[in-house]
Amino acid sequence: ELYNKVLELKGNIRVFCRCRPLNSEEIAAGASLAIDFESVKDGELTVISNGAPKKTFRFDAVFGPQAEQADVFQDTAPFATSVLDGYNVCIFAYGQTGTGKTFTMEGTKEARGVNFRTLEELFHVINERQKLYRYEISVSALEVYNEQIRDLLVSGSQQSTMAKRLEIRQVGEGMHHVPGLVEAHVNNMNEVWEVLQTGSNARAVGSTNANEHSSRSHCIHCVMVKGENLLNGECTKSKLWLVDLAGSERVAKTDVLGERLKETQNINRSLSALGDVISALATKSSHIPFRNSKLTHLLQDSLGGDSKTLMFVQISPNENDLGETLCSLNFASRVR
Ligand code: ADP
Ligand code: MG
Repeated sequence: ELYNKVLELKGNIRVFCRCRPLNSEEIAAGASLAIDFESVKDGELTVISNGAPKKTFRFDAVFGPQAEQADVFQDTAPFATSVLDGYNVCIFAYGQTGTGKTFTMEGTKEARGVNFRTLEELFHVINERQKLYRYEISVSALEVYNEQIRDLLVSGSQQSTMAKRLEIRQVGEGMHHVPGLVEAHVNNMNEVWEVLQTGSNARAVGSTNANEHSSRSHCIHCVMVKGENLLNGECTKSKLWLVDLAGSERVAKTDVLGERLKETQNINRSLSALGDVISALATKSSHIPFRNSKLTHLLQDSLGGDSKTLMFVQISPNENDLGETLCSLNFASRVR
């Protein structure tokens, strides 16, 4: 009863928590658990410290270490496919580096994540509706690093000769666009796979340490949908954003200097801007501070209004990560 009410009040914002399993090194090192896996049910999750319960959090869904990609996608699919009904949708993965953001969004070849499964489901629904609707799908892949936008579908050599940096432009009432960003038209899953691979490969280019780079940049896919109702000719245009955020771990400012400091400040700025925007939307505040970061500015049209937002808060079960885990859970509690 009460739970239903909470869901209603929250409108179009949902938060799912996902906890990765302990990895083999942690098991070998005899790591202690900071999460009571028994409590992972009905959207509740209890953090434990020194064996005693510390704090309980409640989310729209909680996925424990046993949850499979398919289980997670089952609850994600209704959100993602609503883009075919004309809704704008944003799906984020938030959390400390190493907690499974990329696993959830991109996944692996054996265990595909939300990005691939979403496109697969979109084509499935499009096929089911083909007598009633006609759809066109295109995909962009971009990265926001140090408050700069990089097109991941443009090859490295072309990119360096591109004189102009990508910028966000307002193109009419509440409409934003990034002129020059590649929008790859896709007709089937083979084409989708190619685009996802191109984007993924481009991420590693130009960085000495691909893992480190990806933990400090936001990796974004935008799925653009044009729909036409064949009965009444009505057309819709909508966007689905799939965002693998930069790592949320706090870096002590005293530990870093120069370029690294600027990088850290930009990450902190954009993640807190995202938190501010979503919590302002959740509390129906009259001022939504979209302009405080590239990320929120880019996603502006798809946050708020009747758009739908889904945030995955990714956590580690290891007691050594307890500090960061609590930060992430508190962040997620703020936006819901
Ligand atoms: P992040 O993107 O947050 O830095 P990754 O997605 O790279 O984290 O995950 C770190 C490691 O943990 C990877 O090897 C990944 O395959 C593994 N991993 C993460 N989540 C899960 C999970 N739910 N089940 C199994 N392995 C996972
Ligand atoms: Mg990652």
